Amino acid sequence: MNLRIPGPTPLPPDVLAAMSQQMIDHRGPEFEAMMGEVTVGLKTFFETQHDLLILTASGTGGLEAAIVNTLSPGDRVLAVSVGVFGNRFAEIAAAYGASVTKLSYPMGQAADPDEVAAKIAQEGPFAAVLFTHNETSTGVSNVAEALCRAIRSAAPESLILVDAISSVPAIRLQTDAWGCDVVVAGSQKAWMAPPGASFVSMSPRAWEAYEHARMPRFYFDLGQAKKYADQRQTPATPAMSVFFALRASLNKLAAEGPEAVWARHEHLGAYCRQGVLDLGLGLFAAEGHRSNTVTAISLTPGQSAAKILAALRERYDIIGGATRAPGVEMIRLAHMGYVSEADLDAVFVALRELIA
Ligand SMILES: *Cc1c(COP(=O)(O)O)cnc(C)c1O
Repeated sequence: MNLRIPGPTPLPPDVLAAMSQQMIDHRGPEFEAMMGEVTVGLKTFFETQHDLLILTASGTGGLEAAIVNTLSPGDRVLAVSVGVFGNRFAEIAAAYGASVTKLSYPMGQAADPDEVAAKIAQEGPFAAVLFTHNETSTGVSNVAEALCRAIRSAAPESLILVDAISSVPAIRLQTDAWGCDVVVAGSQKAWMAPPGASFVSMSPRAWEAYEHARMPRFYFDLGQAKKYADQRQTPATPAMSVFFALRASLNKLAAEGPEAVWARHEHLGAYCRQGVLDLGLGLFAAEGHRSNTVTAISLTPGQSAAKILAALRERYDIIGGATRAPGVEMIRLAHMGYVSEADLDAVFVALRELIA
């Protein structure tokens, strides 16, 4: 099967094998060594010297942790949204009682740093600004560095909370250097690991906010997570098999090296976009903001995304991603983690036959 949805993503054979290991004591020395190793591996790609906590949860759980550990009900929050996942981040904040102001962009567009700064100047102050680094629903990458700079200059006191679930480790994000306070990633995207773990970084400023944040929290209390992480444990039972797999995949990523991992995804992104254009199909994301982990293909009038996806699945064993933009005929192809040019070539060959 050629699984080209943007998570879960396929696993390399050695990661698959690592995952089938026998269970161990999560309060014992073996687990503590593994937790230490995995944390170091994750921090390399988060580019942070600060705390990095591992939660047994999907990425959405990590987003929820980002919110409930830094904010109080009634806090004013600016949610910058360029698609489905930007909306979800805003919804979580609203669900816990934050007063959310949204700055939304049409699907396919990226956020404009100057407009974000202007919004803060006009309607701030905000306790936090939320944005999505890489919007998986539309194949748009926001320019995180410029956004962080704009937010920092307009609102030196605001927290910056970033959904980097479909970017890190494939697309570079410099957590500390860019001043991101909380960054969230998910095991099943570019990490070449199975679903089940979410990773959350916390800056010193985020910990200060934690001290007076009053949203309810229990399972996602990052203070508890840190207390246990300092002993290389987790407060509750961790998804053990995900840790086994993650240790193996992080070893592979470390051996390859961050520069090579980023370059490989840049190459795969460009390769996929060229393949789509060669087929005469369109790219949904705005030029200059096209993602290196997921490509959203816009179809021509008369082509049905649902029919093409069904034919890809039934006749070619290729699983593509469906549209997340209502009313838009779109197919999404992921190219993050364990994926090669040949995997993408197989999709192009199939698509050529199907749309001919
Ligand atoms: C996949 C994804 C999510 C949701 O993650 P889950 O693990 O499904 O909870 C959130 N944001 C982005 C950008 C994603 O790609």
